[in-house]
Amino acid sequence: MKESLLNILRCPECKGELELAVEKKNKEIEEGTLHCSKCAIDYPIKDGIPNMITPKHR
Ligand SMILES: [Zn+2]
Repeated sequence: MKESLLNILRCPECKGELELAVEKKNKEIEEGTLHCSKCAIDYPIKDGIPNMITPKHR
């Protein structure tokens, strides 16, 4: 995913802002985590695709 996407992405639970932790980055972010501090949920980014499914719905 593009790093600029972070400005658009919101936590699907609380619609809050997400914190980005990058693990692997080429041109775009390949691996990492989007974290919502309010919900204490981590949304993993795998192969450049953020998984925005909450644990409730998994
Ligand atoms: Zn949240």
